[in-house]
Amino acid sequence: MKEFKEIAEWIEARGAVHEIPRVESLPQPGFRMDGADHVSFSTNNYLGLSSHPRMIAAARTGLERYGVGNCESRLLGGDLDIYDQLEQKLAAMKGKDTALLFATGYLTNLGVLSSLVKAGQFARIYGYRARNRHSYAFFTDEYNHVSIREGIRLSGADRLTYRHLDLDHLDSLLAGSSATSKVIVTDGVFSQDGDIAPLPDLLAVAERHDAMVYVDDAHGTGVLGASGGGITEHFGLHDERLICMGTLSKAYGAIGGFVATDRHIGELLRLTCSAYGFTSTLPPDQVYAVSEAIDIVADEPARRQRLWDNQRYFVAAMRDLPYRLVSTTTPIVPVLIGDEARTDHLSALLREAGLHVDSVKFPAVARNQGRLRVILNAGHTRAQIDRLVGVFRDNQDRFLAAA
Ligand code: PMP
Repeated sequence: MKEFKEIAEWIEARGAVHEIPRVESLPQPGFRMDGADHVSFSTNNYLGLSSHPRMIAAARTGLERYGVGNCESRLLGGDLDIYDQLEQKLAAMKGKDTALLFATGYLTNLGVLSSLVKAGQFARIYGYRARNRHSYAFFTDEYNHVSIREGIRLSGADRLTYRHLDLDHLDSLLAGSSATSKVIVTDGVFSQDGDIAPLPDLLAVAERHDAMVYVDDAHGTGVLGASGGGITEHFGLHDERLICMGTLSKAYGAIGGFVATDRHIGELLRLTCSAYGFTSTLPPDQVYAVSEAIDIVADEPARRQRLWDNQRYFVAAMRDLPYRLVSTTTPIVPVLIGDEARTDHLSALLREAGLHVDSVKFPAVARNQGRLRVILNAGHTRAQIDRLVGVFRDNQDRFLAAA
């Protein structure tokens, strides 16, 4: 017991405990904090759907028809018809045969990556004997989301980490592996850097090594592509090597996760993935809300248009200032500050001005790579963006990142 107290006090003494703001309402993108109005430049509610009247009406219908929660797991009496309908809609959106719903995006990565390797093991219970021994290896970008890293760890398979977006490094790791099933795993949009994985190039590498590609499209779904279909639509890709994962908690404004796959992988995951079958899943109101969100994204393209207009407006204004932007191709536009204390200091000044921007530092990113992770939103006004740029401008001499 004693070591927990000792470690907790040691960490606290070094100021390593991040202060987490407690909020009194959710960002739309305006919200209440410490009894005052603020504007969030950090919300994943990209299109403002979480408070859309159609979403609330849909959720209410689900609530009234089915009650508050599903107290059964999917494989034991809780397999509601509305799950199947939503899965079909998600699969169609991603151009895949089938989709599986999960309670959260985090659980999706944990569950799918850890059980992909278990198909043969499961079939052996029924007497299956593989002609050749299967061995699995995951090839993972160093900046992938923590749920990917945890899912791979749980699988027990080999994990080979390649340098961020370094396809030559990936290629050499694949060439050196003797695994019979190779899976490349990547974020679609990287959550701390905001850059987009070069999916066509990753697929070309995968083709050369007969590998699959698992893409976590948490930040792309509803945001990228001509109709919000995500990273695959953005690049115009349909490929049987692809497994597409997404969350329902960002642009879709609700909660949950999903993976869209070909028929065989989907069928096997329904059997082997305990995070799918042996836990209570989405409450019905969330299923109704997500289904409505997919329709709203299609019916109201003006929302995505506003999001991208705001993104371009912010990037153009920041280009006149001497800050370094980590990337400028998605609504996540991190402003590099470098030193952790200076990053926190500028974040505090922004907060005093009623603007909330996440301060992202070690260990979420490398040391001295502290950044203010600006996330643009469809609901931002030009005046709000001008205010944000104004604070950066007023403080540029004090907070510029060391080159
Ligand atoms: N993947 C990525 C890339 C993410 O950014 C997140 C959320 N931060 C998740 C997965 C987890 O999604 P959820 O919040 O729905 O569990």
